[in-house]
Amino acid sequence: MTTMDMTEGVPAPRRADGTGAPLLEVRDLHVEFHTRDGVAKAVNGVNYTVEPGETLAVLGESGSGKSVTAQAIMGILDMPPGKIPQGEILFQGKDMLKMSSEERRKIRGRKIAMIFQDALSSLNPVLSVGYQLGEMFRVHQGMSRKDAKTKAIELMERVRIPAAKERVGDYPHQFSGGMRQRIMIAMALALEPDLIIADEPTTALDVTVQAQVMELLAELQREFNMGLILITHDLGVVADVADKIAVMYAGRIVETAPVHEIYKRPAHPYTKGLLASIPRLDQKGQELYAIKGLPPNLLHTPSGCAFNPRCEMAQDICRTDVPRLVPVTERDGAELPGRGSACHFWKETIHG
Ligand code: ADP
Ligand code: MG
Repeated sequence: MTTMDMTEGVPAPRRADGTGAPLLEVRDLHVEFHTRDGVAKAVNGVNYTVEPGETLAVLGESGSGKSVTAQAIMGILDMPPGKIPQGEILFQGKDMLKMSSEERRKIRGRKIAMIFQDALSSLNPVLSVGYQLGEMFRVHQGMSRKDAKTKAIELMERVRIPAAKERVGDYPHQFSGGMRQRIMIAMALALEPDLIIADEPTTALDVTVQAQVMELLAELQREFNMGLILITHDLGVVADVADKIAVMYAGRIVETAPVHEIYKRPAHPYTKGLLASIPRLDQKGQELYAIKGLPPNLLHTPSGCAFNPRCEMAQDICRTDVPRLVPVTERDGAELPGRGSACHFWKETIHG
C-alpha cells in the first residue's frame, strides 16, 4: 500500500496522484506533561502516516506514549498539564494544531472517531444504547427522533448485535463486554468517518471475543475504506488486520515495518523481545519470555537509547547516543520499503 513516512533519512511515499496528501500525517510530534515532579516527555518526535483504507498498528508496552499520541490527534489531550511544544498533525493536508476549536470540533466525531478500551465508562449508563446511537444523528444531522431510532437499529444490525430491534431500548450494562464494544464501534461508524482510532479496543475482552470484535472492525473498515489506527500492547492481535506497524518505546517510534515482515525479521531488539513474549499455541506449557526490567520513568529517561538498560545488545554508544530511525535494508543494501529501525545495531539484529 504505502511506505511508512519516517523523519530521518527515509523518503516520504510518492503518491499516485502526485498531489494528494495522506489521510493523516503526524510529523515530529512532541507531547510533554508538566507535573509537580518535573516535565514528563511522553512523546518525543513521532512520525507516521495513514492512508484511506489502511491500518496502522501502534504497538508498545504500557506508558510508551501510544494513547497520548492518539489523544493529541483527536484533540482530547488534557492541556494543561499536557503541552505540544512541537509537531504537526495534518489531516487531509491541514494542520489540526493550527485550527480553531470550531474547525477542530467539526472534524472530531464526523471525520475522525475514536473507540476506547472501556465501553462501560465511555457510554452513558442511564441512557439506552439506542438513544445514544440516535443522538449522533439527531445532534450532527438534525434527524427526527423516529428516523434516528431507525438509524440506530440499522447500525446495531451492522455490528451484528442479535435482535437489534428488541434491544435498542436496553441500557449499556444489559449487554456483554463484547456486545458493548460492538456498540462503541457502531457509535464510531455512525457518521462514516474517514479515520478511526481504536485504542486497545479489545483488551478488556476474552480472547475468543477479542478475535470476533477485531474481525468485525477490520471488515467494516474495508467496507467503508476508512483509515484505522489500531493501538495495542499485544502483537498477537494485529497480524491479521494491520498493514503496517509502528513500535513505540518511551515516546519514540523504534521500528516500522509492513506487518508480516516484522514477525519474520524484527530489526530492533525491543521488537524482538515483544515477539518472544507472545504466547504461542505450539509452545504450550513453556515459560513465556519476558523482556527484563521495566519501561523507563519518563521524568528520567536514560541517556542514549531509552531501551539500553534492558537491552541484551547494548554497547557504550547505546548509553550516549540517541539512535535515529533509519531505513532498514537487505544485507546487500537492497531497499526494504517501509522498514526502519532506531537501533545502532539494527544490522546485527535483522541479519544476525
Ligand atoms: P500508553 O502507551 O500505555 O498508551 P500513554 O500514552 O497513556 O501510554 O502515556 C504515556 C506517558 O504519559 C505515561 O508515562 C503517562 O504517565 C504520561 N501521561 C499520560 N497522561 C498524562 C497526564 N494527564 N498527566 C501526566 N502524565 C500523563
Ligand atoms: Mg494507552
